[in-house]
Amino acid sequence: MDGAERVRGRRWLVWGLGRLGGGVGVARWLASQGAEVTVVDRAEPGTLTESVAALSDLPIRFHLGEEDPARLEGVAGVVVNPAVVPSKSVFFQEIVRRGLAWTTEINLFLERCPAAVIAVTGSYGKSTTSAMIAAMLEGAAGRSEVSRVFLGGNIGRSLLDELHTMQRTDWAVMELSSAQLEHLPRIAFAPAAAVITNLHPHHLDRHETFEAYAGAKLNILGDAHAARILILGPELSRELENRETPSGLRRMLEERLDGREVNLRLTSEPVEPIEVRTPGRHNQVNAQVALNTTAAVGVPEAVAREVLATFGGLPHRLECVGRVDDVDYVNDSKATSPSGTRTALEAIGRPVVAIVGGAAIDEPLEACVEVMVQRCRAVACLGETGRRFACALREGKLRGGVFELLEASDLEEAVAWAMDRARAGDVVLFSPGATSFDRYVNFEARGAHFKAVLAKAIERAGR
Ligand code: ADP
Repeated sequence: MDGAERVRGRRWLVWGLGRLGGGVGVARWLASQGAEVTVVDRAEPGTLTESVAALSDLPIRFHLGEEDPARLEGVAGVVVNPAVVPSKSVFFQEIVRRGLAWTTEINLFLERCPAAVIAVTGSYGKSTTSAMIAAMLEGAAGRSEVSRVFLGGNIGRSLLDELHTMQRTDWAVMELSSAQLEHLPRIAFAPAAAVITNLHPHHLDRHETFEAYAGAKLNILGDAHAARILILGPELSRELENRETPSGLRRMLEERLDGREVNLRLTSEPVEPIEVRTPGRHNQVNAQVALNTTAAVGVPEAVAREVLATFGGLPHRLECVGRVDDVDYVNDSKATSPSGTRTALEAIGRPVVAIVGGAAIDEPLEACVEVMVQRCRAVACLGETGRRFACALREGKLRGGVFELLEASDLEEAVAWAMDRARAGDVVLFSPGATSFDRYVNFEARGAHFKAVLAKAIERAGR
C-alpha cells in the first residue's frame, strides 16, 4: 500500500476481524489514520463479541455473517485476514477482479516499522521461542536503557497501535505464521534476524504441498537486498550439515539466497540442561534457539541465561492450572495437532490421564498413539478426531497397552472421568491433538473452557 494519502478520508475494508488481535489492531490503526473503516467477517456475530467490543469507541461499520461483493463498492483498499485462503475464496477473487489494492495487517506494520525486527517462524515453538527472545532482549535493554522491546504478530497482538512510539533503536520480535509469511513478498522486508525453529508438514490444507509451505516459511528471509542473520533450529541445522544426503531445504535455501551472503547460525541440541521453568525437551530446544538468536544480536549470554531461568512459559502450552490430591492438571489446548500432543506426553515423563480430540483433522495419529500407549493410564476422547484416536487406541490396547478408554460426549464428562482415574503423582493432561473449531473460536477459548470446567469439577468434588 502507498502512503497516508491512500488512507486519510478513504474507505477501507477490513476483511476478517478474528479474535487474535490482528483485525482489531488494523481496524483501530486505519481509523486513527483517518480512514472510513468497514469490517466484513463471515463469522457469526456472536463469536466476535469481544473483538467488536474492543472497537466500540470508534465509528466503524460492521457487516458480520456475510461477504457481500457490494461491500467492495467505493473501497480504496482491503486488509485481508491471513486466515483467508486466496485461491479458495470467491470474495478474494472479486477483490482482484476489481483491481482493488489489498494488503495485510502484518505487511502494513512491517512496511512502517522503524525498529529492528527479529522475525520468528517454524512449525512448532514459534510463540515460545519468540517470547523467550523478547524476554531476553528486554533483560538486556533494561540494563542499558537504550532500547525497548515489542512482541507481536501471530502471538496474538497487533503492534500497529504502538508504531508511532517505536524508534530505530527498539526491537520488534515478530512471530509469523506461514499464512502471514505467504504475503510478505508484496513488501520490501529486511529483518535484522530471521529464525526458523523447525519445519514439519503442517497446514497442507492451505499450502497443498510441503514445498509450498516451506517456500512460504522461507519468505522470512526478506527481500533480495537486505543483509541478515538466519538462525535455524537443531533439526534443520542437522539437515543442512549432513552434506551426504540430499536436502530439499538446502536446495530451496540456495535458490532463495541466490549467492547472497547470510550469517547462517546453526543450532545444536542442548547438551547441558538449560535452566528454564517451562518443562520438556522441546522447551530446552526452544531455549537453545533463543540463546543462539540473542547471542547473534549482541545480548550477553549471562543476561540471556538469567532471564531464561525465570521464564515460565506461555498460557495453553503445558500450562499447569491446578494441583489437587497430588495430581497436576495441565492445560495444553495449544496442541492442535497429534505431534503437539505427543510432544506434551514426552515432556511430562509421568503417568498421564489424557483428554484428547477435537475437530476433524487430516494428520496421521499413529506416532502420537504409540506414545499414548506407553505413557497414558487412561484416555478420554472428544469430537471427530477423538473418534479416530479411540479407534487407533483400541488397536494399541490389543497390542498390550494398559489403559482405560472413554468416548466422551462433552468436556464436562471427560474431565470428571479423568479426575476419577488419576492417582497421586499423575498428570491430567488436556492436549487435544486437533483443532478447536468444532466447538470454539480458537485454542485460547478451548483452554479457557477446560480451566472453567476443571474449576467447577474440583469444587463439586469438594477437593
Ligand atoms: P507455535 O507458536 O509454533 O504454535 P508454541 O510455542 O505456541 O508453538 O508451542 C505450541 C506447542 O508446540 C507446545 O505446547 C508443544 O507441544 C509444541 N512445541 C513447542 N516447541 C516445540 C519444538 N521446538 N519442537 C516440537 N514441538 C514443540
